[in-house]
Amino acid sequence: MADTSFDIIIVGGGPGGYVAAIRAAQLGMKTAVVEREHMGGICLNWGCIPTKALLRTSEVYGLIKHAESFGLSVKDVSFDAKKIVERSRKVANQLSNGVKGLMRKNKITVFDGVAKLAGTEAGGARKLAVALNDKSNVTLTAKNVILATGARARQLPRLETDGKLVWSYKEAMVPPEFPKSLLVIGSGAIGIEFASFYRTMGAEVTVCEVLDRILPVEDEEVSAFAKRAFEKQGMKILTSATVSNLKKGTDSVTATITAGGKTQEITVDRVISAVGIVGNVENIGLEGTKVRVEKTHIVIDPWGFTGEPNVYAIGDVAGPPWLAHKAMHEGVLVVEKIAGVKGVHPMVTSNIPGCTYCQPQVASIGLTEAAAKAKGLQIKVGKFPFIGNGKAIALGEPEGFIKTIFDAKTGELLGAHMIGAEVTELIQGYSIAKTLETTEAELMATVFPHPTLSEMMHESVLAAYGRTLHI
Ligand SMILES: Cc1cc2nc3c(=O)[nH]c(=O)nc-3n(C[C@H](O)[C@H](O)[C@H](O)COP(=O)(O)OP(=O)(O)OC[C@H]3O[C@@H](n4cnc5c(N)ncnc54)[C@H](O)[C@@H]3O)c2cc1C
Repeated sequence: MADTSFDIIIVGGGPGGYVAAIRAAQLGMKTAVVEREHMGGICLNWGCIPTKALLRTSEVYGLIKHAESFGLSVKDVSFDAKKIVERSRKVANQLSNGVKGLMRKNKITVFDGVAKLAGTEAGGARKLAVALNDKSNVTLTAKNVILATGARARQLPRLETDGKLVWSYKEAMVPPEFPKSLLVIGSGAIGIEFASFYRTMGAEVTVCEVLDRILPVEDEEVSAFAKRAFEKQGMKILTSATVSNLKKGTDSVTATITAGGKTQEITVDRVISAVGIVGNVENIGLEGTKVRVEKTHIVIDPWGFTGEPNVYAIGDVAGPPWLAHKAMHEGVLVVEKIAGVKGVHPMVTSNIPGCTYCQPQVASIGLTEAAAKAKGLQIKVGKFPFIGNGKAIALGEPEGFIKTIFDAKTGELLGAHMIGAEVTELIQGYSIAKTLETTEAELMATVFPHPTLSEMMHESVLAAYGRTLHI
């Protein structure tokens, strides 16, 4: 009989849960994870990783189609949808198995099953009722429980996904064949990444966004630049547009869309609904506890505490931003707080970078220009275009810009916003700068290697103070 009593149990083996488990084991806690499906959660199995594998394919395909501009001639370029999907699944499986290996290495017990809170023992330990996947049941106990149950796709009335013609991100990732025409509802990171992938692979893509711009959480200039870039690639973008109905045919869908006071119908092979996510808060035993749920998410303080003694929450189930690195960071900090590690810092949401891996890529951190102004801050803004950077030209990637925003009074780095090649890798420079609370002075005094795209970050900082060199 396996051990049933632990120092800490984590419900959910996604990036929040498995990272929390590793840190707990490192700190000497007897640790268990309960996972109902795949170790690695949405991120490794149905999110970050398989989408990036698909997007790598479309990136390479896009480059091959422009081979001539690199002095290469490539004939008869074609693709095999089945093999593209197979590669993406192989990458996802490799990483999910890697997480299982990490659990073994760290001596973490993994229970395959569904867990819910089930009160406390006389001694105060939390009880978890677990319905194991082999149909047996077990009650586990632990001093502390972390809820890391993640989130799922939001469904809107009349736009519900059916897995065949109207896809959620899951079906969009494993299509039996690629659609020739596609409507993407919602222009957040998930919707835009699929729109970018399928457009590059040749589909006629229409993106429909209810707000007045795409990638609505990004800086307005980035949204506008992205819209122009996507339209140049042949995507149709409808903003301030509402899809009110989806009429399903045998192998197509007719969508009713209202934009600018006009209603039109468009018929497409497939629809992807990417209209947000809801937290997995049901059936986890929250009834009768002090855990509060707001807008389908568990309310936590900046340490992951829920208000119910010894019950914590992290990651997507604990609210936005719905990002794997936020989940992992929360996992580490809550465990360190529980263990009484000294010098643990609470979560600072404005220091969490966000990335969208479309072509061109988008990355940002901190306040947008509009948000900084709305806060009444006096700001200095610097912008540098990719066209002014040697490495960007050499790569054949002259499209994009980097924008940096400082507090004019203190020199505090308030935000950075980028669009263009590899910006999802560059943003980390600003993440470190923000965490270290650097000002413009340190960033200006930093030596950036040449030739790199990162030089544009330096130039953008210099531009904020009228000192840019290469434009
Ligand atoms: C298409 C797509 C692309 C994405 N791309 C990115 C990206 O590029 N970068 C990024 O940072 N984020 C990305 N995300 C978001 C990212 O996947 C999530 O932020 C991340 O997975 C959240 O981690 P988590 O541990 O909170 O939850 P999850 O990864 O959702 O894991 C929760 C786990 O809990 C399990 N579970 C739930 N309830 C129970 C229960 N009662 N008992 C046992 N187990 C349970 C689930 O099976 C699941 O495995 C993407 C998401 C999608 C959908």
